[in-house]
Amino acid sequence: MGDYVTGVAVVPGRAGSVHLTRLARPEPGPGQALVRVRRVGVCGTDREIIEATFGTPPPGSSALVLGHEVLGVVEAVGAGVGAYRPGDLVTATVRRPDDCPSCLAGQSDMCTGGRYLERGIIGLHGFMVDRFVEDVRYLVPVPAALEAVGVLVEPLSVVEKALRQADLIQRRMATWAPATAVVLGAGPIGLLGTMLLRARGMAVHTVARTPPPNPAADLVAACGATYVSTRETPIAALADGLPNVDLVFEASGAAPVAVDAMRLVGRNGVAVLLSLTGGDDALPVPVAAINREFVLGNKVLVGSVNSAREDFVAGVADLERFATRWPGLTERLITTRLRGVGDAHRIAETATAGVKTVIEFADD
Ligand SMILES: [Zn+2]
Repeated sequence: MGDYVTGVAVVPGRAGSVHLTRLARPEPGPGQALVRVRRVGVCGTDREIIEATFGTPPPGSSALVLGHEVLGVVEAVGAGVGAYRPGDLVTATVRRPDDCPSCLAGQSDMCTGGRYLERGIIGLHGFMVDRFVEDVRYLVPVPAALEAVGVLVEPLSVVEKALRQADLIQRRMATWAPATAVVLGAGPIGLLGTMLLRARGMAVHTVARTPPPNPAADLVAACGATYVSTRETPIAALADGLPNVDLVFEASGAAPVAVDAMRLVGRNGVAVLLSLTGGDDALPVPVAAINREFVLGNKVLVGSVNSAREDFVAGVADLERFATRWPGLTERLITTRLRGVGDAHRIAETATAGVKTVIEFADD
């Protein structure tokens, strides 16, 4: 180990600027841990940062180290750290608080101040680096048995929060027993949402464009959900064939599909919007009908971003449930593996290949 660590960085605002960068090797201070990175996941946000539509470097730096989905091993701890020991597997939350009331209350995912930072995205270097230092309060333990899939805790935490939000909202109901769910989108978030809702016992219909057979359709079927291709079954036909839809997760990234979410959600149901949509195009939307259906049906439309530490903890527990219920299935979400930082320039070109791309960091 030298005096430096190597990371995969971009120059935010400059498209296609992926490069390797060296940072001073960090040392853990009091309350901190030094984490050696095993594996980092790549998601749509990383690709948006690479395409220069998103991302802010840390103060005083022109470059931003990517990566916000991580599995690592604690290598050393600073003074006063009793909860972690070298060798422990961990992941880390992404957002860091500002001084707004929500953040001060421990809910940085509900930040009202808007000055929060996010590792690998806004103002802080990310985890696509040999080693990083983090306050242990932002680390989440991962059992050794989940080594192969622990890198998925962060994306799973996004749908854990979505479900937690729906459950909180539905405290308005004397009886909330969701039986039927629709998941729009079959990327990593849609597929993890499908597995989560299946694990909660719901009948799940997962909707995407591509007709089967394809890897996402296979994963959907393997956890007992129903894959629906909109090239074969239009949304209106799907809606006509379903019982009351209690819960909708929208994770497609397509603006017209957000409108589909509003049309699909049933009486007393909740539609959770989870994907960012680009552009400013106007769409023809049947506002009167949607408004009428929402009023007459007590429907709720809610957006959900980021996730709280409790959602990471719930995600770890659910990955254990998935492993028991569907052995080996979660592993199949990881369809592309890049080898080390030297392979990281291929991140952009893996954008549409398979389901989930991860970067494997070498042991040393
Ligand atoms: Zn805040």
